[in-house]
Amino acid sequence: MSRQIQGQAQSVTERAPSPPQVNAYEMFQAQVDLVGGRLGLPDDLVDLLKRPERVLEVSIPVRMDDGRIRVFQGYRVQHSSARGPCKGGIRYHPQVTVDEVKALAGWMTWKCAVVDIPFGGAKGGIICDPMCLSVGELERLTRRYTAMILPLIGPRHDIPAPDVNTGAREMNWLMDTVSALRGEPMQAVVTGKDIALGGARGRREATGRGVAIITQEILERLGRKVQGTTVAVQGFGNVGSVAALLLHQAGARVVGVSDVSGAFYCEQGLDIPELVEYAQHSPHRLLAGYSAPGVQEIPKEELLTLDVDVLIPAALEGQITEQNAGRIRARIVVEGANGPTTPEADVILEERGVTVVPDILANAGGVVVSYFEWVQNLQCFYWDEEETNARLARVMRRAFQEVWDYARHRETSLRIAALMLGIERVVQAIRLRGIFP
Ligand code: NAD
Repeated sequence: MSRQIQGQAQSVTERAPSPPQVNAYEMFQAQVDLVGGRLGLPDDLVDLLKRPERVLEVSIPVRMDDGRIRVFQGYRVQHSSARGPCKGGIRYHPQVTVDEVKALAGWMTWKCAVVDIPFGGAKGGIICDPMCLSVGELERLTRRYTAMILPLIGPRHDIPAPDVNTGAREMNWLMDTVSALRGEPMQAVVTGKDIALGGARGRREATGRGVAIITQEILERLGRKVQGTTVAVQGFGNVGSVAALLLHQAGARVVGVSDVSGAFYCEQGLDIPELVEYAQHSPHRLLAGYSAPGVQEIPKEELLTLDVDVLIPAALEGQITEQNAGRIRARIVVEGANGPTTPEADVILEERGVTVVPDILANAGGVVVSYFEWVQNLQCFYWDEEETNARLARVMRRAFQEVWDYARHRETSLRIAALMLGIERVVQAIRLRGIFP
């Protein structure tokens, strides 16, 4: 669909090329129903928990490099502010849907509650393929989106952060745009900024660091050592590459990694520092074209079914499904991504005795350090990386222990335990506050 604007410029609404296989919001709602039942919550409260507080849809006009105007679809969803300001990343991806953003916002609410930081949940997304946009187009898209979601965001209301295909650069633009529009410095409006602009030291690595900490915790509880443990990591972006690197440094043998461009396997263990270096310098930070002695390129789907001790899905949601769950050979799955396992796959993994450490616990390191960044911005007092990492490790280990104990006590999976613990905390806040008016 196109129409003429100002005589010659065109408007083309960006659409997802094909809908995602799994409806994340249905997955989210099914989880709330299940856990609501286990907690004995009344139906009206379950209904409240399943719905976002606010959904904003924006049509973002962007002047492209060729002079045309292209209109992108974007969203900001606030799921819950019961425990504090809403918090959640912004995703740029061709397959973003409003349902996906709603689900991700809801998972943020439970995640913040599981690690017990004073935030509710939110998420944002723009339907776009950033690989096909120039830096200038990306900047104009980010700034206009920011202006359009301005009524919702703010240090005391809703604080965005990076997610898939966004990072410090986009967060810097967002902060600058809000500051320009408000006429005052607004560092605390967004986290994941560059350090020079008030970003927390260690924030970029925080999610992957948290995943590595949680992997070590689960190995220890199951009586295993990280040294020599074999690991496969799906996704080699912010989360996957850091988790792989830290586990490699801790002595694990990371035998497989993949990204959207390909998958690589080496039985003796991949040279993860070399792969990180390779990705950093390759176009779009992809692994495509990597080769080294003893390293085999394998089909991307095979990464998930490699014969390893630990599998870390750290790409997108809906990767472990009914179709492949029966073939997963890892005994432990640590969810770096949000929602990588469908509910049907979850049942299959549980029946097969695979221990799954759920996303809302395993990948919470990012939001924990985002919380530290926000605290530092508000106080204008900055910590060194050592302090951030030590505090992060404390929060992650405490949360892991709480979820582990909850699961043992209730004889349930770690996923159900984490959801029960998170939802219980949100319900407590809702009950204490009451329903306005
Ligand atoms: P990113 O964009 O930095 O990396 C995503 C990676 O996944 C890329 O390497 C990409 O090539 C790869 N990928 C995409 N499709 C793939 C496929 N089909 N097969 C294999 N690899 C594929 O994103 P990220 O920030 O690392 O986020 C990854 C996941 O972690 C997302 O689910 C995100 O919501 C979640 N997460 C991120 C953070 C954070 O702080 N960045 C925090 C919590 C959760």
